[in-house]
Order: sequence, then C-alpha cells, then structure tokens
Amino acid sequence: MENMERLRVLELYSGIGGMHYALKESSVPAEVVAAVDVNTTANDIYKHNFPNTPLLPKTIEGMTLQDFDKLNFDVILMSPPCQPFTRIGLQGDVADPRTKSFLYILDLLPRLSKRPRFILLENVKGFETSAARDALLQTLRECDYSFQEFLISPTSLGIPNSRLRYFLIAKRPPGSFSFLTSAEIMEGFPMSGSPDNLAAPHNHPTSSESEIEKTGTIIFKLETEQELERKRIQDSQETVRRLQDFLQEGEEDMDQYLLPPKTLLRYALLMDVVQPSSRRSVCFTKGYGHYVEGTGSVLQSCVDVELESVFKNLELLSEEDKLKQLHQLKLRYFTPREIANLMGFPADFTFPKHISIKQQYRVLGNSLNVHVVSHLIRLMISN
Ligand code: SAH
Repeated sequence: MENMERLRVLELYSGIGGMHYALKESSVPAEVVAAVDVNTTANDIYKHNFPNTPLLPKTIEGMTLQDFDKLNFDVILMSPPCQPFTRIGLQGDVADPRTKSFLYILDLLPRLSKRPRFILLENVKGFETSAARDALLQTLRECDYSFQEFLISPTSLGIPNSRLRYFLIAKRPPGSFSFLTSAEIMEGFPMSGSPDNLAAPHNHPTSSESEIEKTGTIIFKLETEQELERKRIQDSQETVRRLQDFLQEGEEDMDQYLLPPKTLLRYALLMDVVQPSSRRSVCFTKGYGHYVEGTGSVLQSCVDVELESVFKNLELLSEEDKLKQLHQLKLRYFTPREIANLMGFPADFTFPKHISIKQQYRVLGNSLNVHVVSHLIRLMISN
C-alpha cells in the first residue's frame, strides 16, 4: 500500500461515520470526498467529528448521475437502511420505500463515467436472502466486479459483543483478492486475511416468544439448558476480552443509567444480564435504553451478590421485597460511550452537547463495528 495514491472515497448512508472511522483505522491512504445522509441528528454528530469532510445532507436519489460523476470517486462505502431486511421489520425488501435509494445506486453504477474500483456494503443478517441482494450481485457481475460475501460478528475479533452482520466487498480488475474467494457466504474472516480468526460462537438473538411465560407483572424468561451452556462457553473463551475493558465504571453520574423500578419489576427476568467479567453481550439496537426486550444486554454493576440467588423465588415476594432484592444487583444500562467502545469507536469520537442520551443510543444502534469493517477494508484493498 506504500506507493498508493490517496483513494477518493464516497460514504453513502454515512450516519455517524462508522465507515469513516473504519477507513481511518485501516490506514489505507484515502480521503472521504463526500458523505451523504438525510438524518439531521446523525449529520450533526458526523460534522462534529469530521468538520473537514464534505457532508451532503440530502437523499441519495436526489443526486443526479452528474453529481456522482463530479465526485470522481474510487471507492464506495455504504450501509443502506436495514429495516426492510430484518426479521422484526416488515421484510419489505425491494418493495419497501426505504430500499428505493439503494436500487437507484444499482441503476447508476453501470452508467457512471468511471466505475469505482472498490465497493463495500454492510447490512443486517437477512439481507443475504433478499431480492435486493440478488439485484446487487447481478449489477456487480454486469459491471465486471469480483466480490465476496461474509457474515461476521465482532466476537471473531475477540470483542465481547455480538453483532452478526452481512458484508460484501467488491473489486474491479486489475488486481484480485489476496484470499480465495468463494460463491458461498464466508462466516468470519478468511484464514489468511486476519491474524486473529477466532472461532468464537455467535450469540443468537433472544429467546423466542414460546419460551416466555407471562405471570402477573413479572415476565419470566425460561432459559433453556442450551442457552445457559452457550453463555458458559462464551464466558470461558479466553480469546475474547472481558467487558470490564470497555466500561466507564467509577465515573461520576452513572446513577442515571440504573434501571428504574418499573422496568426492574416488569422485565428483570427477561433481560440479558452480564457482569464486568463476562466475555459477551448481545447486539445493541436503536431502542436500547428505553425498550428492554431484545435491545441489548444490561450490566450487573454490583457483583457482591449472585444473580441466581436474587432471581430465585423472586416471584414469591411482594413487589417491595422484589425491588429490594433486585436493587442489590445495581442493574444498569451500558452508557453510549461504553457501547461506542464495544463498537470500536476511538476515544476522540464524541457527541455534540445537544444530542440526548436516547438519540445517542439510537444512532449507535444503527451504526457498525469499526474494527470489523476496518479489517474488511484492508482485505478489499490489499493485493
Ligand atoms: N453506517 C452508518 C449508519 C447507517 S444506517 C453509521 O455508521 O452510522 C442508514 C442511514 O441511512 C441512516 O443514517 C439514514 O438516515 C440514512 N438514509 C436512509 N435513507 C436514505 C436516503 N434515501 N438518502 C440518504 N440517506 C439515507
């Protein structure tokens, strides 16, 4: 990469700039010549952290072929909206209005006066079975790209956070990938591509409805033996770091993150509770911090008491006693900074003062793991 000219990068659906941070971390000589996003909150955060990057606050489909040609870019980094492809979303796929801008990009690509040499796309697990993905592959083939698809979670880099995502890297000749490509979707990094290709198990989403039983105000999550076993295995995986390395414990003002009594009473047994010594956490999504179910793990910040002993026979107690029991655990939400740490955002990433905590969770939930993408950028560009 030594004698390489600085690549001109177009960052589409830029959000808070996860792709830009990944590009920086990859140390590939490059500059973001334009970032494009319509969300004003995300854009405020992006500008705050990258004041010198041209940020276009508009819709992608509002840009013309000439607008794109003028940018004269070599690389596209993009994370199109994922809601049309999630299990919980309506699975609108190509019929979903939120996929329109992506189809517009696919339509433009063959008509650009200079096709970019590299394309990296990030999306949720589920994209790989969509018609949007079929359209993407077809366009890439027509435009002479070679490409590789992946499903990767940060756990494969030793990060104690599950965030299984779909990635595609594409490259145009001259030059080919440094690893053996395959028509199959690769699970994890290719062996030669990453020094620390760890076979950490993926953390699958929360238990299904059928495992949840409602009794009075408390909802029980009946953990299956397999689930408990999986957690035990994850916590014994020494190649994965402990959560404590990512925490802000001891900082002032942490009380605001404690779970309120109402939430404790209603959801205590449904939450995924982890300790600072744990080597796992579930994917943090944009509802984190107000919806509890399936949006991310909560932290037991007092470990003097055992979780099991607190949860045992909880249902037999009066509300007051239940709360007393639960309060001993000091259950709290991860702070936005802690989530940013787990997602690989550097220490100099900050939020402008006017962005609320709720907004911070929301934009982080939409973003990506910087370390994972950084590895993929290097894999895409090295030869
Ligand atoms: N990778 C980003 C997040 C991507 S989430 C990050 O690191 O933060 C998808 C983003 O696409 C959202 O910020 C949303 O505002 C933006 N978006 C959705 N539809 C768009 C469109 N038609 N034109 C421009 N931006 C769009």
